[in-house]
Amino acid sequence: MHELSVTESILNIVLKHAKAGNVQKVMGVNLRIGVLSDLENEWVQRYFDYLSKGTVAEGAVLKIERIPATMRCENCGQITTFNLQELEKDWKCLACNGESLTLVSGREYFIKNIEVM
Ligand SMILES: [Zn+2]
Repeated sequence: MHELSVTESILNIVLKHAKAGNVQKVMGVNLRIGVLSDLENEWVQRYFDYLSKGTVAEGAVLKIERIPATMRCENCGQITTFNLQELEKDWKCLACNGESLTLVSGREYFIKNIEVM
């Protein structure tokens, strides 16, 4: 049910912006979600369809872009970016080969922009 609460907060932000901009209809929402997030595109859209019924965002299409994760090396402080393929391998610092990495980002989600009519 994780997606439900996330989708609800996304919808609330969309509706807030729509209201502030006096928008009549939201056509699409461009979302960026970290590659390590367990949010499933299909479920986010499904919950969005369900929750947005009767609002200006009803029928809006979500476009989801996955963004790479970043990690900080505990040894040298270097920040390294990992895409999905790289995340499936061993995580090592590119600067010092250190293996003690802390996740900086990769599970976050945010709204890039909203397409309106
Ligand atoms: Zn390092």
